[in-house]
Amino acid sequence: MTATQPAAEAPETAGETFDSLNPATDEVVGTYPVHTREEVEAAVERAREAARWWASLGFDGRAERLRRWKGVLTRRLAQLCTVVRDETGKPVADAQLESVLGIEHIAWAGKHARKVLGKQRRASGLLMANQAATVEYQPLGVVGVIGPWNYPVFTPLGSITYALAAGNAVVFKPSEYTPGVGKWLVEAFEQVVPEAPVLQLITGFGETGAALTKAGVDKIAFTGSTATGKKIMAAAAETLTPVVIEAGGKDPVLVDADADLDAAADATVWGAFSNSGQTCVGVERVYVHERVHDEFVAKVVEKSKDVRGGSDAAAQYGPMTMPSQLAVVRRHITDALARGGKALIGGVDAVGDRFAQPTVLVDVPEDSEAVREETFGPTVTIAKVRDMDEAVDKANATRYGLGSTVFSKRRGVELAQRLRTGMTAINAPLSFTGIASLPFGGVGDSGFGRIHGPEGLREFARSKAIARQRYTAPIALTTFTRKEKTDALVAKLITVLHGKR
Ligand code: NAD
Repeated sequence: MTATQPAAEAPETAGETFDSLNPATDEVVGTYPVHTREEVEAAVERAREAARWWASLGFDGRAERLRRWKGVLTRRLAQLCTVVRDETGKPVADAQLESVLGIEHIAWAGKHARKVLGKQRRASGLLMANQAATVEYQPLGVVGVIGPWNYPVFTPLGSITYALAAGNAVVFKPSEYTPGVGKWLVEAFEQVVPEAPVLQLITGFGETGAALTKAGVDKIAFTGSTATGKKIMAAAAETLTPVVIEAGGKDPVLVDADADLDAAADATVWGAFSNSGQTCVGVERVYVHERVHDEFVAKVVEKSKDVRGGSDAAAQYGPMTMPSQLAVVRRHITDALARGGKALIGGVDAVGDRFAQPTVLVDVPEDSEAVREETFGPTVTIAKVRDMDEAVDKANATRYGLGSTVFSKRRGVELAQRLRTGMTAINAPLSFTGIASLPFGGVGDSGFGRIHGPEGLREFARSKAIARQRYTAPIALTTFTRKEKTDALVAKLITVLHGKR
């Protein structure tokens, strides 16, 4: 098959539109269609044909296109960062950081897809020694990607890139807060893949996302809140459509008695406040060994004084992208203070109409909202623990389980292994996000399935097992003409092989 229709033919829309605003100024930075169910279905239909063409390019053909896409993103990085800043309000340097990580993933996925997904030989075992056994990972077809706004480049690329590298076409619905970033990424892809709509954009609100879930795609890769993830899974269950759910978190940091306290305090402050705390793997809770608790808290307080949210060039982070989140942040702080917590930095007044300033809370009961629910704002709770066993127990006492960080000189790996989260960074904050070969994903209410790394490639492929008979077996097992002698021989053989006490 040659190319299908030109990629430029984006879904037509019935006419309704919505505005994308700069959250720092409320200025309208773009107007986008609200795609209807029919339009979403039409996009998936086009994607199905494009998927066949894209799959036919093979690993090398796709790797070459992904390599070129990566080049376009890299050369036009400054422009991409401006679009991200305009829609999220985050500083350009932060937009650059997430984009750079996204580019790394495109590079990794394109380069490794053949090795991870290509045909592999498997041992066929003594009983089936006459068979050649292979497995290969074939594309699913069309993958629907539904993204959030907090890292509008890095997060959706974690699914899109791996789905494309595995040979699928993608229909992408970015968040209604960041449609312009989605459009930019798709248009950059169309530059290097003009032949067919392999990566299409659909825009709109939750209903458009819901329509994508039901449009007959072969998998939905969702990143967003746990509540929406549950709705998507329920809808996908109707058609047995598989899903990857990358949902929220309540990520802990553990600080051991022998930890580098400066590094731990720095990681806490950056992990909790950067991007105004709107990071799925952001630091929300800290458990500190009693021997170093006071010193650690003093360092966090000191470092927090230098951090400020604002729209000027000197501010370290921008506004809350979604205004409604400010109410959640305010509620969590209010509840924490009402229940005996203390704000050493910030407090309720730190939460304004657009920006929230850093808040450091101590003495907050473990069953309060600020400790149990995802705050998704620039706040952090710090608690003293007797020992690291208590730290692990408290860190694990949550429905969530996305990322975690451990600061410890001697016990880093052991503590990391005991944390019920998909990823753990030791002695540096969020380092796993920058390592393209590591899988990323959660446990419990943080979701399931994995993006990034070999696991991320396999998530968007189906295994195909093939057993090829190389020669007729001396003892035929799968026939009605099998003799008693054969059964006796098999019984003897299995005893020799597996019967040892
Ligand atoms: P959200 O759940 O409100 O929206 C995410 C996306 O889902 C949007 O595109 C939205 O339009 C769409 N949507 C809403 N209702 C839908 C429905 N019924 N069916 C289909 N699609 C629907 O989340 P958000 O506010 O955009 O993002 C913030 C959340 O995302 C936080 O909880 C954060 O922790 C999480 N997050 C997780 C990861 C991760 O990798 N685990 C990464 C980034 C963000």
